[in-house]
Amino acid sequence: MLNLNSRTLRLSLRVLLLLLGSYIQPVFGITNLMPEDDSSQIIRSEYLVDLSGKASVDDIRKPSNEDQWQAIREDTPNFGYQKSPYWYRFEIKNASQNHKEQIIEISYPLLDYVDFYQLSEGELVQAIHIGDRKPYSERIIDHPNLLLPVSIAAGETHQIFMRVITNGAHQVPLSISDATSLFIRLGKEDALHATYYGVVSVIIFFNLMIFIALREKQYLYYALAALSYMLFFAVMKAKLFPHFFSNTPAVHHALILILIPLSLLLSTLFVREFLRPEQYSKTLKLMVNSIIVVCLMCLLGTLVLDAQTSIKLSVICAGPISFTLFIIGPTLGFMGNRMAWIYTLAWSTLMSGATITALSKQGLIASSFFTEYGMQLGSAMELFILNAALASRFYQEHRQRIAAQESSLSEQIERRQAEQKLLTKSLLDPTTLLPNRSCFEEQANMEIKARGYKRLAICVIQILRYPEISRTLGHQNTDLMQVDVGQKLNAFMESLPGIVKIKGPTEEAFVCSLEPGTFVMLVEADDAERQAEEVNETLRKMKAPIEFKEMRLELRPAIGVAVYPEHGRNTEKLLRHAQLAAESSEAFERHLSYYRPEYDQYNERRLMMVSELKEAIHDDHLALYFQPKYSLNENQVVGIEALVRWNHKRYGLIRPDEFIEIAEKTGIIKTLTRWVVSRALRVQNQLKEKGHDLNISINLSALNLRENDLIDFLRSQIEEHDSDPTRVFLELTETSMMENPLDAIEVLKQLRELGLQIAIDDFGAGYSSLAYLKVLPATEIKIDKSLISGVCGNEGSDLIAEATISMCHKLNYSVVAEGVENEETLEHLRKLGCDKIQGYLLTPPLPFEKVLAWLDRFESDQRNVS
Ligand code: C2E
Ligand code: CA
Ligand code: CA
Repeated sequence: MLNLNSRTLRLSLRVLLLLLGSYIQPVFGITNLMPEDDSSQIIRSEYLVDLSGKASVDDIRKPSNEDQWQAIREDTPNFGYQKSPYWYRFEIKNASQNHKEQIIEISYPLLDYVDFYQLSEGELVQAIHIGDRKPYSERIIDHPNLLLPVSIAAGETHQIFMRVITNGAHQVPLSISDATSLFIRLGKEDALHATYYGVVSVIIFFNLMIFIALREKQYLYYALAALSYMLFFAVMKAKLFPHFFSNTPAVHHALILILIPLSLLLSTLFVREFLRPEQYSKTLKLMVNSIIVVCLMCLLGTLVLDAQTSIKLSVICAGPISFTLFIIGPTLGFMGNRMAWIYTLAWSTLMSGATITALSKQGLIASSFFTEYGMQLGSAMELFILNAALASRFYQEHRQRIAAQESSLSEQIERRQAEQKLLTKSLLDPTTLLPNRSCFEEQANMEIKARGYKRLAICVIQILRYPEISRTLGHQNTDLMQVDVGQKLNAFMESLPGIVKIKGPTEEAFVCSLEPGTFVMLVEADDAERQAEEVNETLRKMKAPIEFKEMRLELRPAIGVAVYPEHGRNTEKLLRHAQLAAESSEAFERHLSYYRPEYDQYNERRLMMVSELKEAIHDDHLALYFQPKYSLNENQVVGIEALVRWNHKRYGLIRPDEFIEIAEKTGIIKTLTRWVVSRALRVQNQLKEKGHDLNISINLSALNLRENDLIDFLRSQIEEHDSDPTRVFLELTETSMMENPLDAIEVLKQLRELGLQIAIDDFGAGYSSLAYLKVLPATEIKIDKSLISGVCGNEGSDLIAEATISMCHKLNYSVVAEGVENEETLEHLRKLGCDKIQGYLLTPPLPFEKVLAWLDRFESDQRNVS
């Protein structure tokens, strides 16, 4: 009953109110209390759609509209995209004992127009017109959010009407709180935003720097995409509005339209550069490119479509595009792109952030800090992860680049060094480090051209004892000696009148190296001839023996001179003529010779030898001479050494010293040695037949040891002549074996296995490696004649000979002394325990017939003596 009564009462009251219409205030369904504490309170409201779009606040308040108001259930009114104005109404009651000033906040700052009307008992208390289409400078409270101050006396209730019209999403999240707590909260939020912008700005700056340094597009796109995200969030929260667009709200609006498609476009461009999908799949490439086209179309849409359609288009596209960009990650990841996994992780953080925010906006999950800032947190995470990936890629590529640069740099340096070396090498003598022949020729040519009117002398200095010294000292020492001689000559020549300096690649020199044992210099002939005294002084210095390794070496320099212009008009010819002069007998005897046309003959002789030697062997123009070997122990001749001669129809008998070198240089040495071996073994047999059963010694060249059929050849010769290999001695100079010791030893061992004897020739004068001597599979050592000749007079030689003999005995070698020319030496050697001797004392080398006669006579003499 009571119920019925009260209902009837209410109904009738309502009818009454309707009737009274404009005279009394409308009845509000929803009253919101002003919060007592510092909390913020969500405002509940009712809404009405003004389809006419023209209703004023007075129109809206008419009781005739009363049944069109509808209550809003959600915390946040959200009507999507709406063209019509929406009206909201609610009451605010100050239930406290005090007058209160509080602030109504619409936390979605992108609403175009908000017209706010506050009424008290039907009277308008204040009207505020706000929104992001209106200049910011008109705002009452300086904040991007739409803030509306309300002031209500104690116990009063005010009515609020709000007209909202907007092109974008129609959301009106309303709340009320007291000013202090609101500004504290907004301050915290602003700080969070500022942190986000700060971090993203650093990331943008960092990537732009890398882009500027490397010019790689991925860094640029990444920086721009990050910038567009940042701008997007800033615009969504209207953060830029107060600062940049306070009087140009239209531009601010345009930004909102552009930023969604723009950030999608830049993200896609980044994905294309970063993941390089074209390397993995054509379909993916097509997808990415299509997305780019769609984004471009959306961007174009912002220009041609109206704002709402354009935003709708972008938002509709954003979903599938983000999803596609998301699934590209794992797809490429499974295809083997490692970076794609990192990308997937990054993109999922953004996606989940966005999803969380969206879900909370739909009221599906409870609102919290994480839902409110899901997008920002997600995008910050995404930026961080991608940035780390980019940084690591940058680091790796940077390292690779540095490595590549370093290697190319060091390659360049090496190449330059090599070129420099080549250049230096091409102009420097490798041994003496003096300028070489080409360097000399070049400069001499220049000098001749430059001083065309002057007489220029090319002087070749030949160290006559060079071949001998090099044979006895060994390579290493000969080289050292050459360096020494080069330096000494250079020092002597500085004071030579008329000497011309030669510019080498490293430094200047007076003397250049022509070939081993030969030097050359350039002299202004007139100057030198005018000051003969000084020239002679220099020559005298040159002739003096030099100290080398505690030896006194007499170099015997021979100087050959050819003068421009009388002896030739170009360097080549002058050099050749000077060389001939140096090789002449005059230079040999008097140390100095000027070129004479007759000297050309010598040259002819050398050329002849090169061309005729082969024929000579073939035509039997070579001859073997034999020198006996006498045993001091047995007091009898025990062997003979075969020494080759060349019987030339024009030049007569040519000694081996002159042509063996040529044979070695031209490769004829193989044929020559084989000819000698065969002849020598035959002679050994012939002598045996005549009653002289002797050992035979045959000289081998070092080059022979390199022939791979040498062993086979010797074996067949021994068989053919039915020789006893233990009675065949192969003589090799120590130096020749030193050239390639290990290989030489190997061959010598094989020779020993055949039963042959090995003798070390020319031992003792040179640089002898005792350590090496120990491992040589030799049976006999021949002490060089240069040591023997001084045995009786020279203290040093004597000691050396004695030491050598006793040492060789300790090593179980039989010792032969070469070059024994007198009885005194022989007796001395006998005392020293020398085993055998060879030398002119017995006889110089003789041809077969003569040696046979000598042997017969010698043996009969011996028999007579005994
Ligand atoms: P070598 O093997 O040291 O030969 C000894 C040289 O000393 C011979 O010179 C010989 O005539 C010379 N001689 C012998 N007794 C005396 C002496 O009492 N006083 C002086 N001052 N000299 C003496 P030769 O025949 O002119 O040979 C020169 C070099 O040519 C030989 O030195 C040897 O190395 C080489 N040679 C000779 N025949 C051959 C050969 O068939 N093959 C090879 N590869 N080299 C050979
Ligand atoms: Ca010999
Ligand atoms: Ca010798």
